[in-house]
Amino acid sequence: MQMSHTPYAIERVVLVVLDGLRPDAIDRFALPNIAAVLAAGAWTRTGRTVEPSITVAAMASLLTGVSPARHGVRTEGFRLSRRREPLDPLPLVLAEAGYPCSAFLSALPAIHRVLVRRVLRRLGPVSAQFTGRCAEDILAAAGGTLRAQRRGLVLLHWPDADDAGHDHGWMSPRYAAGARALDGAVGELTRQLDLAHDPTTLLVLTADHGGGGHAERGHESDHPADYTIPTILAGARIRPGPLLPPVSLLDIPATVLWSLGVPLPESYAGRPLREAFAGFHADGAADAAAAA
Ligand SMILES: [Zn+2]
Repeated sequence: MQMSHTPYAIERVVLVVLDGLRPDAIDRFALPNIAAVLAAGAWTRTGRTVEPSITVAAMASLLTGVSPARHGVRTEGFRLSRRREPLDPLPLVLAEAGYPCSAFLSALPAIHRVLVRRVLRRLGPVSAQFTGRCAEDILAAAGGTLRAQRRGLVLLHWPDADDAGHDHGWMSPRYAAGARALDGAVGELTRQLDLAHDPTTLLVLTADHGGGGHAERGHESDHPADYTIPTILAGARIRPGPLLPPVSLLDIPATVLWSLGVPLPESYAGRPLREAFAGFHADGAADAAAAA
């Protein structure tokens, strides 16, 4: 695959999925670390996840660049479509461009692990670890990889807020504690990444869905509280400020490829969030001098 590198010289994207974190939780619970990344980053509080607004569908969209209607993972049954047009899975596209991909996800029951691994095998080469039950443990498991893998994609999935939302309700005190656990891990991650001194790394924080829309302890509906997600890009090449609406979860895989200089497959439904990058003008022209 032909490389057409952006002027931004980004070599690595660290993508963190804050499962079930509503954007309004950032201010409501005064989450200092996420707020700090947001203040220094390019952000939206009105992003939209895929339909249905469930984790497996959103994760499959992040890893394929297409909607659930296209990739076929629309239930907790984890089945990638075999009959529709072929997919261009993100890990495979990255591998063809010479970039590795690793993922750190929460420990799953054995039966789910088998199903998820079956899906992952069809996505291309991903080094996936299912380990830990909270953000802190999953981040700890990823520590060695975050230090050693300087290129490609590192995907982290943290379950704390979603777990608390299902057990106690979205925006409940226990949900607030889950959101604070996510925030604490974001603080530790940003200390480890030290983005100010590493212009080749792009950090992306997002959520797979919100929650508490039509059901206090659920998130699968067309209610805005369920489908609205935050998305934040941070790094030395990022220009602080709001992203241009509308922003979709599907824009994230497109942005991962674009920022690494990998051409987008035609199948990808989203757009690269170019306006997040310093020196890039909304009219579509990159000011290479400003970005260099
Ligand atoms: Zn959930």
